[in-house]
Amino acid sequence: MPNKYSIVNIITHFVIKLNTNFFYKIYFYLLSTGNKGAIFCLHRIVPRDGFSKWNQFIELTPTQLEKLIISLQKMDVVFVNLQTVHLLLTQKQTSNKRFVHFSLDDGYEDNYQYAFPIFRKYAIPFSVFVSTDFIDTPNPFIWWYSIEEIVNNELEFDLSDYGVVITKEDYLRSSKEAIFLQLKNLFLNHVDSNRGYFQYKTNSLFIQHQLTAPTMLNWVQLIEMHQSGICEIGAHTHTHARFSNIDMHTKELEVNKNKQIIESHTGIACRFFAYPYGHYTDIVNWQESESVMKKCGIDLALTTIPSLLTSSSSLVQMPRVFLNEMSNSYTLLTRISGVYQKNTQWDI
Ligand SMILES: [Zn+2]
Repeated sequence: MPNKYSIVNIITHFVIKLNTNFFYKIYFYLLSTGNKGAIFCLHRIVPRDGFSKWNQFIELTPTQLEKLIISLQKMDVVFVNLQTVHLLLTQKQTSNKRFVHFSLDDGYEDNYQYAFPIFRKYAIPFSVFVSTDFIDTPNPFIWWYSIEEIVNNELEFDLSDYGVVITKEDYLRSSKEAIFLQLKNLFLNHVDSNRGYFQYKTNSLFIQHQLTAPTMLNWVQLIEMHQSGICEIGAHTHTHARFSNIDMHTKELEVNKNKQIIESHTGIACRFFAYPYGHYTDIVNWQESESVMKKCGIDLALTTIPSLLTSSSSLVQMPRVFLNEMSNSYTLLTRISGVYQKNTQWDI
């Protein structure tokens, strides 16, 4: 006896095969879950040969992005900017269609090089959430890519202040992926409380071995995207700080500095924010986060928690769903309808 979800699966595949706006409309009507639409979370848009090994879950090729847009255009959805998302959720504006918004985190240069021309070609609004410490700087500290470079090159890495010393023998004993994950865990939990130490240790290896980190956006590129009228620039903290690692005062400093730098370049108020990392364990204290958002004048704060997006969703805890190279029409339809969010158990 098939369960309810497998029947939904069959219907979903059937509707994708039919690929007409009429059947998408019926699908959304019959499988109405109260989901208003989807805010997609993207990071890097890079050609296949520029993909990394262990950060691939945040990478998407320009070809695949274009395919996803073309699939979405056939579905019964409307593409909106964040200002409209805010209006739709606060009931000041209504739509009987589900909405879709593309957001890109961190501020990688490929957003300008590859994503911007595609969004402009199809006149689709998008947003870029930047950590201002990464922008216009020769050595951006994108540590998740830095540790990948270090491990890939099998370099010795002395982080003895935290009881971790990676030696050549470790590369014989353990897989590179296991070493990467060990370092990722260490950085994720400690980098915000001792940034200078981790940055110094990482940069020393980068200089010594002439390693390269991803290129990040500069202000000329950001302003050009902003002035195109289809790109909103949002805050992402100044140093990409993980909220669960920092106190309330530091949260306010991080958001305010980030906002002020963005506003000084764009000349308009920055009212949107995306929590770095963005899951439950990266935020933890929701009450404190909510109060920081209010104090800093943030209207919409986006997480990476893939829950249903309804009119009762908190404006400072907005759900988002990831898109990457594995995403296809099925991914899109289940995320927009809310079938995916409703049928998956999320660990808190
Ligand atoms: Zn980020």
